[in-house]
This record gives sequence, C-alpha cells and structure tokens, in this order.
Amino acid sequence: MNKNKDKIYVSEIFGPTIQGEGPNIGKKSVFLRVAGCDFKCTWCDSKYTWDVSRVDCKVYTKKELLNNVLNLCKKTNTSHIILTGGNPCLYDFSDIIINLHQNEITVDIETQGSILPSWLSMCDLVVISPKPPSSGQKDIFLNVKSFILENAERTVIKIPVFNKEDITFLEKYYDAFEKYKIRIYCSVGNNIVDDCDEDIVNESLKAYRKLIDEIFNKTKMKSIHILPQLHVLLWGNKRGK
Ligand code: SF4
Repeated sequence: MNKNKDKIYVSEIFGPTIQGEGPNIGKKSVFLRVAGCDFKCTWCDSKYTWDVSRVDCKVYTKKELLNNVLNLCKKTNTSHIILTGGNPCLYDFSDIIINLHQNEITVDIETQGSILPSWLSMCDLVVISPKPPSSGQKDIFLNVKSFILENAERTVIKIPVFNKEDITFLEKYYDAFEKYKIRIYCSVGNNIVDDCDEDIVNESLKAYRKLIDEIFNKTKMKSIHILPQLHVLLWGNKRGK
C-alpha cells in the first residue's frame, strides 16, 4: 500500500480533545489517525480507516502532514499528539517525530503490535494493544514479547475486553509481563456501532461494572488497570472526538 515512502494516508486529524484510554487518560491531545490497517477486527470502531481510497481519506507528504499537525497544535495550544489508526506502523514517522519533539510536542502511539518499526522507540509512550479472541484476529504475543521487554520504560499493554475468552487472553499477557513492572490496562469493549449516545453510555457503564466484578472475583491480577473508554462515555461513537 505504502510504495511511496513519502506519502501518508490519513483518515482524520482532530483536536484538541482528551485521550480517552490508557495511562494518559484525560490528557489534552491532538489525534492523527492514519488510514490503512493490516487487521480486520470484528468490532473495530474505526472501520472507515480500512479503505485508503475513501473520499474522506487524505494523502499527505510527510512535510505537509507535519505542518498541518504543527499548525493545529499551535492554534489550539496543544503539546501532545497521539498517532493512531488504522495501524500507524504501516508508515515511517521518524522524521515527523523528530520535528515534533523539536517543537516541544510529545508523541504517543497506539498500535496492535503486528508491525514494530525501529522508530517506535522514539515515541514518548508506546501503547501496544494486542487484539483478543473476540476480534477474530491473530495473537501477536510472540511478535511483541522481545520489543516490550526491551522498551519497558516507555511501553504499556492495553487490551479491549468483550467476553470471558478475552479475560483469559488478558491474563496471559499479565502473567508474562507484570513481573517486569510493565503496566497492563484493559478497557471495556464497545459493541455498539451507531451514534446513539444514551444507549452507548448506559451499555458502556453496565459493561464496565461487569468487567470490574469479573476481574476482581474471577482472576488473580493484583495490579491490573481497568478503564472505561472515557471518550465513548462523553461523546458516544462520534468521529473527531
Ligand atoms: Fe480496527 Fe485497530 Fe483492529 Fe485495525 S487493529 S481493525 S484499526 S481495531
């Protein structure tokens, strides 16, 4: 897909908003969501990123993209960017990250871990989000193991949980990495695909309470972090939030 290495396909750039998940939950951020993904998760809430030929997908040179993001950060007084997708590891962001750091803008990345380019270690925070059995995708455990251990100081694991099998999957990652002081987060899965805010908030809170109960009562994970998707509680499935 990315034959021209200077081109990056982008689904959306938006902000400022708040990070809704993981260790930086609540942090003022600009989001850069790339188009293109090598996974096809059944419950993906960003399916619009899969098709780079969509009319709302834009293609930028790296310089154009950097300028675009810098301008938005300056205009909105924001000093933190989140690279997400899709899978941002389909592209090379090294030059963009260097420039963002020179402008005192920190960079987090969220990726499912199928591709681990060397520039990941330039990010301030790497959120590896392995997809559990409910996604219908392959487990990338063996792929990410050595990366996570070598980049422990900047890496966390975040797993969305939809059912009991997913909790077992979460426990496997917890058992493998918690002993190395790597923080493990799980977030409650969002199965609702439309924009109906009231239903999403009620269903998400119900599922969040259920997930907390199940993890407390049926597992032995002592230092697990269990989070809702804060952006879903605030804005439902609206794009650009
Ligand atoms: Fe969607 Fe992320 Fe899965 Fe890709 S990895 S299909 S963007 S949930």
